[in-house]
Amino acid sequence: MREPIGHDRAKALLARLRPQALLLTGPEGVGRRTLARWFAYGLNCERGFPPCGACRSCRLDPHPDHLEIAPQTGERQRPVIPVERIVPREGGGANLLEWIEAAPRFRRKVAVIDGAERLTEAAANALLKTLEEPPGHAHLVLVAGSRDAVLPTLASRSLEVRLSPLPEAELRAIRDDPDLLAFAEGAPGRLFWAIEHPEEVRALVRLVDDLLLGLDDGTASAERLKELLSRAQSGLPPWPFLRRAFAKLPPDARTEALGFLVKLEEALAAFVAPDLLAAWGVHELRRIYGTLRPRAL
Ligand SMILES: [Zn+2]
Repeated sequence: MREPIGHDRAKALLARLRPQALLLTGPEGVGRRTLARWFAYGLNCERGFPPCGACRSCRLDPHPDHLEIAPQTGERQRPVIPVERIVPREGGGANLLEWIEAAPRFRRKVAVIDGAERLTEAAANALLKTLEEPPGHAHLVLVAGSRDAVLPTLASRSLEVRLSPLPEAELRAIRDDPDLLAFAEGAPGRLFWAIEHPEEVRALVRLVDDLLLGLDDGTASAERLKELLSRAQSGLPPWPFLRRAFAKLPPDARTEALGFLVKLEEALAAFVAPDLLAAWGVHELRRIYGTLRPRAL
């Protein structure tokens, strides 16, 4: 079990309230899954909260009273959590409801649903009753990006604990490197990933710098932007570095550029083709940066 970094108030709240239906929200990498595990270990620790890490229960990993369900990635399909992972179905395998009904080996059973926004509607509906009235020994933890992303019927039956990005000072104690810290944007999980993949992060910084240079001297190409978009699609988002650069622009251009970035992220998430997006994007950026250049005499 790893001790979550930061989030002291959330930890104190969970230890005090021990909710049976919990919705943990916040950005990817901020520590939601680590906190969910910490909560699960604390519930079964012989010494209570915070989990000691040394008792009979804390030494078990995997733990027989902890279950974690995550979306399954199909070929070219949006990953989902199908209904057969939640309820018994003919020919179906292990499922959450059967698992959670059975008595715990220690004291409490904790099921974590990572990516609760990816529950299919049937799966979410199957979960409702248990979420509302869990067995006395059971806890359900839904992990999601935000409350809005989860079906309202699930969110309204859960206690939401929102994890915000940590202050940079807290992460600087782990690694004081401006590029890696910028990439992490307050999420320890992202910082740990960056520490293990520094070359990929540096390459991303170079690509962003190239694009920005091109915008300064008017030679920016859609190809450059397309390359950045394809990195974003493969899980290496350039947004933190673009945000960092745009933050230094004069107020009007800054507002426009940051607004543009939000649209770009949304369009990419909605699977707009990167070619189209890059052509539109570089046109927009040229226009925003064009207003910054002094007019020719
Ligand atoms: Zn313990």
